[in-house]
Amino acid sequence: MSAVIIRGGRVIDERGERAADVLVRDGMIAEVGPKLDAPAGATMLDADGAVVAPGLVDIQVHFREPGREDSETVDTGARGAALGGFTAVVCMPNTNPPLDDAAVVQAVLERGRLAPCDVHVAGCITRGRQGKELAPLGEMHDLGVRVFTDDGDCVADAAVMRRALEYSTALPGAVIAQHAEDPALVAGGHMHEGEWSSRLGIPGRPAEAEITIVARDLVLAERAGARYHVLHMSTAGAAALVRDAKARGVRVTAEVSPQHLTLTDAACAGFDPVFKMNPPLRAQSDVDALTAAVVDGTIDAIATDHAPHAPETKAVPFEEAPPGMLGTETALAVAITQLVETGKLPLASVLALLSWQPARVAGLAEHGGPIVAGRPAHLCVIDPSATWIVDAQSLASRSRNSPFDGWKLTGRVRHTICRGEPVVIDGTMER
Ligand SMILES: [Zn+2]
Repeated sequence: MSAVIIRGGRVIDERGERAADVLVRDGMIAEVGPKLDAPAGATMLDADGAVVAPGLVDIQVHFREPGREDSETVDTGARGAALGGFTAVVCMPNTNPPLDDAAVVQAVLERGRLAPCDVHVAGCITRGRQGKELAPLGEMHDLGVRVFTDDGDCVADAAVMRRALEYSTALPGAVIAQHAEDPALVAGGHMHEGEWSSRLGIPGRPAEAEITIVARDLVLAERAGARYHVLHMSTAGAAALVRDAKARGVRVTAEVSPQHLTLTDAACAGFDPVFKMNPPLRAQSDVDALTAAVVDGTIDAIATDHAPHAPETKAVPFEEAPPGMLGTETALAVAITQLVETGKLPLASVLALLSWQPARVAGLAEHGGPIVAGRPAHLCVIDPSATWIVDAQSLASRSRNSPFDGWKLTGRVRHTICRGEPVVIDGTMER
């Protein structure tokens, strides 16, 4: 394997910030320091005016394989992720068949072996995502699975949830992640229940559906001493519960999506299904509360919930369309635009939310670590002040459902280095 030298950047990781070149050899970071000598034949990557950071880590993506390869595959999904600066992703298990046993998990991991970013998977909590009988969590854990969730659906039965939380404490590093929406409260709903849903005449999904499940789960997780993670948190009420639980030592973490920090239910006014998601876009007061929760550390991670849908499946009336949107290629720029450009957070904190903190939530020890010699070389080089306009048609995904189409964003990925190999150079896939 040949060498790569990243020249002239500002290195930012958990340990702080310094100007340094980074030399990568045989998949590992070999040297970090000013004005390094480049070995003969090394690939030179320009980081002038840019930031060199640990590769980003997206702990919630839907790559649709197996079952809906027309919407996305592990390969196309991983390409988009790499273009977005991600060197690791965790695929949600709501595929067809679902990732509820070792054989299916193994098959998807196999598909990810040659992908341009590390592909990890979450396993189902229950068999067939039916919410009844526990899936073989131990067997999946043996394959390296650390995140368990029935995402797409909530584990609604409190007894099943309690058993899963209790069982998970016997599996080192395991976390039970919940799509927190009480199915009875959201039944028949298509957007956030509030002023806009009544104005538009679209049945709503109330914030209480999320808040009540999070409240219940926090009680169960605390009693079990288990690790619990709230996927795509969307309400002020749930953020307040997580803040209180953390303060009393509950082992809880939470993530928020870039869209839930940016868009509100008002976006649904045109009945455009591109703005339909689960959980739904909420009120401005929720967006403000989630932003405050990101700033004060209540929220650990920004995760995209990248949910591709083939164009024809979204080209239907709002109420018939599946929920979800693309996220991996725009996440960093949306976060920089919303949080850094507005002065709410420094860039280093946004990188923490997109790299080392999510890596820790999902137990991905190879990722998000400090940029020092001897660590695996999963890196991204980003230009934090470059502006660009999102063109949904030119994204790497097989799908086109981006609500940020046409938006001008700040922050651009220049290079992505995964397993020591430059997979994106100057914003272009290398293979
Ligand atoms: Zn979900």
